[in-house]
Amino acid sequence: MSEQKKAVALISGGLDSMLAAKIVQEQGVHVEGINFYTGFCVEGHTHAIRRKDRDKQKRNNALRVAEQLGIKLHIADVVEPYKAVLLNPRHGYGANMNPCLDCKIFMVSRARKWIETHDFDFIITGEVVGQRPMSQRRDTMPLVSRQSGADDLLLRPLCARNLPPTLPERQGWVDRNRLYDISGRSRKRQMALVEEFGITDYAQPAGGCCFLTDASYSAKLRDLWASRGSREYELDDIILLKVGRHLRPRPHFKIIVAREEGETRFLEGYRHRFSHIRTLSHAGPLTLLDGDGITDDDLHLAARIAARYSQGRDADTVEVSVTRQESGTSKLEVTPLPPGEIDPGWTV
Ligand code: SF4
Repeated sequence: MSEQKKAVALISGGLDSMLAAKIVQEQGVHVEGINFYTGFCVEGHTHAIRRKDRDKQKRNNALRVAEQLGIKLHIADVVEPYKAVLLNPRHGYGANMNPCLDCKIFMVSRARKWIETHDFDFIITGEVVGQRPMSQRRDTMPLVSRQSGADDLLLRPLCARNLPPTLPERQGWVDRNRLYDISGRSRKRQMALVEEFGITDYAQPAGGCCFLTDASYSAKLRDLWASRGSREYELDDIILLKVGRHLRPRPHFKIIVAREEGETRFLEGYRHRFSHIRTLSHAGPLTLLDGDGITDDDLHLAARIAARYSQGRDADTVEVSVTRQESGTSKLEVTPLPPGEIDPGWTV
């Protein structure tokens, strides 16, 4: 009896990667999944924090796929090595700060190394020719195979029959006739496969897989770099960009105002790192101040903005506590900033 072949599938948590893994699994190959955590992953983050989303299911879609398929999932933390991809993408960015082509090459090359060390035979992705403008085009897909070093160990079961046969097909590890020739952005054939495989639980194919495709998130990231004068970041920086309203009333500081209760609780965890403001006389959000050389005038302005977003927005004055990193907590009585004085240009 021939030895069972082993493949690792890149699992994003979306439907395509799930189907790709399933197709190969159905052919008797031992499949395990790998999911890369870059720090920018959408994966339930805002739903997990916001009170208004309290009833939405909070789950890790990659783990859910693994559970559905009955495969082992390896979650790889690539926050550090991913920085080089984001900061200097050889193939540039997409519509926002998303370096999709370099990102795909990076992930497949990590998977390539992974199969070597784990003694697996090939790699599976859920890519479909013509589905994404940057990384899934007829001309860029061979580039991903080549520049990742995976070459023909990279099998894309959903569109394999549109592409030259890979090693797993040529060697008969998988039957090419039982692979697919899906192309384009339509989801019709994927939905037919969902039916065929009797899959009932999968993530709706909406939204990107990471915040880098989001215009407002990308603007916040650019602002962070511009304010620091350097394109650097730590995990906490990029997590905080996902939370709250970010306003930069002066070039040297910005404020992060929680938009609701869940965000306030989340930001509490970052309080020790930032000067911050709480409203005392009225219920209101926690406000963090991020910047250097913050003056008393800046604090006063930030307190008036915080008061504006509190229940005391129409009151004559709101009492707030201001905690400065360097000099402790004091109380202030401030007039909420009138809406007309909140410059739309402050919104990051
Ligand atoms: S959307 Fe994000 S995770 Fe997905 S390929 Fe593009 S950069 Fe990578």
